[in-house]
Amino acid sequence: MLENKNNEHTSLEKLGEFGLIDHLTKDFKVTQKSTLKGIGDDAAVLDFANKKTVLTTDLLIEGVHFDLSYMPLKHLGYKSVMVNLSDVYAMNAKATQITVSIAVSNRFPLEALEELYAGIATACKVFGVDLVGGDTTSSKTGLMISITALGEVDEAKITYRSGAKANDLLVVSGDLGAAYMGLQVLEREKEVFKVNPNNQPDLEPYAYIVERQLKPEARKDIVTLLEQLDVKPTSMIDISDGLSSEILHLCKNSDVGCNLFEDKIPLDPTVISSCEEFKVDSTMIALSGGEDYELLFTVDQSAFLKLKGNPNLSIVGHMTQSSEGAHLITRGETKIPLTAQGWNAFESD
Ligand code: ADP
Ligand code: MG
Repeated sequence: MLENKNNEHTSLEKLGEFGLIDHLTKDFKVTQKSTLKGIGDDAAVLDFANKKTVLTTDLLIEGVHFDLSYMPLKHLGYKSVMVNLSDVYAMNAKATQITVSIAVSNRFPLEALEELYAGIATACKVFGVDLVGGDTTSSKTGLMISITALGEVDEAKITYRSGAKANDLLVVSGDLGAAYMGLQVLEREKEVFKVNPNNQPDLEPYAYIVERQLKPEARKDIVTLLEQLDVKPTSMIDISDGLSSEILHLCKNSDVGCNLFEDKIPLDPTVISSCEEFKVDSTMIALSGGEDYELLFTVDQSAFLKLKGNPNLSIVGHMTQSSEGAHLITRGETKIPLTAQGWNAFESD
């Protein structure tokens, strides 16, 4: 697992800390106007001129947030960046810089870290962000990655969780539940592999959901789309923990209620078929699955014509007075209270 294609193993001790940092970061290029000084001094120097700065950070721990037995390091590097950029985009901001701090044990050869940084480099390139710093230290246990992302935004465009109003439309990008079902498939294959290591899994039918788990894409394109459509969301959040818990965050922070319509929840056909195979309810998975990294936002009703029919967006409900609470309206037109876990199947009103 920690071996690279050519099975080369260069020990980290041989390079030393500074050699390692140089080696891993030498090919990163700075492209943002706001980056005055990137890697190489005691601190990076940034200038956001007349923009506001957003800053967000995430810590990922081996065995808690990722499992290297099915997560290739290149994907891990890419995904670690996505998790952070997704938070920047959820503020309606443009991501500009990241820092990457890692703690690694000696069991990782240089080639493994090269893979990790190849994923980070791809993410930086595709999303146009500069790697401007970080820290490198040793770990006695697993791998730890902490990424901080910065972004810039005009003050008037900043979108908080707190701006939703009753009667606003609730909109979600992409489709939901795929990353969670991809994880189920990978976990199942891991168990099969333990019993029979010669068994080559056929993941082809699950390509979409496995990719959504291993290589999520932060929705920069949605921030751009909203700008082009001249729509400013009243509130926004990214979906890391599942639709249900994110809706409840918007409701709580904005002091509103919500009606979410089950039949409007966007599901990929592969999610529906894998839910049948795993005997789980696809609505439940979309509500509580997590790791979709889609954007969930509210807009004034006047934006309806601009958003309806857009293949990247689904209008899934509307906000209500807070006294009405947050509910799922099922296909059978039953009204069920939303809970952070998805819904409470035993409660109905
Ligand atoms: P210091 O001892 O002042 O913290 P370091 O030697 O740790 O400095 O870092 C030197 C430069 O390399 C700094 O610009 C730092 O931000 C950058 N850097 C260190 N580790 C990493 C890393 N894992 N990824 C990217 N940049 C890093
Ligand atoms: Mg340091």
